[in-house]
Amino acid sequence: MSFDARGGPNAALYSPSMPEITFLGTGTSNGIPVIGCECDVCHSSDPRDRRTRTSALVRFGDHSILIDTATELRSQALANDVRCIDAVLMTHAHADHVGGFDDLRRFNELRQEHLPVYANSVTAAAIRERFAYALTDLYPFYGGKPDLILHEITGPFDLFGQDVIPIPVLHGRLPIVGFRFGDLAYITDAKEIPSASLDMLRDLDILVLNGLRERSHPTHLSFADAVDIIESVQPRRAYLVHLSHETSHVQAQQLVPAGIEIAWDGLTVTTRSG
Ligand SMILES: [Zn+2]
Ligand SMILES: [Zn+2]
Ligand SMILES: [Zn+2]
Repeated sequence: MSFDARGGPNAALYSPSMPEITFLGTGTSNGIPVIGCECDVCHSSDPRDRRTRTSALVRFGDHSILIDTATELRSQALANDVRCIDAVLMTHAHADHVGGFDDLRRFNELRQEHLPVYANSVTAAAIRERFAYALTDLYPFYGGKPDLILHEITGPFDLFGQDVIPIPVLHGRLPIVGFRFGDLAYITDAKEIPSASLDMLRDLDILVLNGLRERSHPTHLSFADAVDIIESVQPRRAYLVHLSHETSHVQAQQLVPAGIEIAWDGLTVTTRSG
């Protein structure tokens, strides 16, 4: 089935070599506005300052791939008219990235079949424990639950004819993964990108990277950290996600060089390859 995440008519124009990404959520673990916060960013009238927890939808050909099941998956899917997901890639199992996991049930109903979920071994173990009702036989009489097949990934794999390359990165001490699809790469929640992984980020059209805030943080890239990585691998375009409420969209955009964009919830960009 052909499906355009934006509800537009152009799905047939895209080939598997031209992935497209929709930023479903671009906020850090609290989301923005933060509950009970009186700061200017949390009270901003700029819609780009309303950020749900970070996740994305990548499309190539007729296929839609969800990266992470963020806390607001249901509202993100409604806001972006996402009706079909063909697979789910998990970067890691922190609460903000898995909180919407049970909402995958609805995509099972729409597909009328199971959904494949891909994760590294650390993340797969954490998800199996957290969502044992769906991923183990421990709760045979549990009610409605998602119908999933969990695949542990150890290296590049094929997804509907598209090479998907897991990019190992460190989130503090936690080994997590980003993903590369052709000349699009998506990395969230990194603090350190090992040199072998930097080599996997060459010749990109679009690099998505986390950038938490101006100040340094022990487990996330700051804006300056992200800019250093972007300048070392030289993608044609770069987008930052996973922002905190310490800077507004406009302020954050002024803190990074031209050519680096601060993403916002609902933004869709298409790679220019082909
Ligand atoms: Zn705030
Ligand atoms: Zn995290
Ligand atoms: Zn996170």
